[in-house]
Amino acid sequence: WHLAQALPFINDGKIIKWFGTNTDIDEQKQMQRQKDDFLGIASHELKTPVTSIKAYAQVLGAMLTKEGEHKKADMVTRMDAQVNRLTNLIGDLLDVTKINSGRLQFNKVWFDFNQVIKETVDDLQHTTQKHKLIADFSATGQIYSDKDRISQVITNLITNAIKYSPHTDKIIISTKLEDNEAIVCVQDFGIGIPEDKQDKVFEQFYRVSGNKQHTFPGLGLGLYISSEIIKREGGKMWVNSIEGKGSTFCFSLPADGNGS
Ligand code: ADP
Repeated sequence: WHLAQALPFINDGKIIKWFGTNTDIDEQKQMQRQKDDFLGIASHELKTPVTSIKAYAQVLGAMLTKEGEHKKADMVTRMDAQVNRLTNLIGDLLDVTKINSGRLQFNKVWFDFNQVIKETVDDLQHTTQKHKLIADFSATGQIYSDKDRISQVITNLITNAIKYSPHTDKIIISTKLEDNEAIVCVQDFGIGIPEDKQDKVFEQFYRVSGNKQHTFPGLGLGLYISSEIIKREGGKMWVNSIEGKGSTFCFSLPADGNGS
């Protein structure tokens, strides 16, 4: 607010007219929009060269393996893994700009939620030797949702569970049906989250301080994106956690238990 413009006319102690402007709020909105536009354009532009590097790395890796150059092929595989990380980071930035500008799109179909969760869990089990992903599905049903987005949410919760459990190996993924809602939880026995930080972890760019950056890399976007996806699909996301003991992240979605 510009104070000079915001001085009210006062008559007998009552405000009769308010000459205020929303200039600062408009400016803030415009700056936010410019920031979102910049993020959107920058991440979009980054995507093309990274996709091309990935394609070349894969061809090069295959050529080196064929030529028996296993050491060199191994280096290319590591390069490819880093390119994947970069692709995921760029994907997260793009998703945030889409969420913030209301452009996140969903391709909804009816599907068996356990099946999609099981496929995602199986894929992720291949990425870790240390952690054991245990599926505990007590019921199944159909949800009307975007399969890829739901898989993205589960992937995010499980990769967090892996990342924040450096000294324990068990991660339990459970599903159940309650009052026409599917409830999916990912439980770990890792570092946990202090009670006063538990709500904040769903905010964009928020990371619990004290997390050593080099030990736990990240941008603080995964839970924001995941909770926004679940919100837009008509559900809720929450966390129960005890510092030093572990965390359970859950989400619910409207489901049809008889449809499977
Ligand atoms: P990132 O992991 O990239 O920092 P997220 O949005 O996924 O971003 O998570 C936000 C923050 O919440 C993390 O930085 C971490 O402090 C905390 N967090 C998320 N998942 C867990 C977990 N399973 N255990 C402990 N802390 C977690």
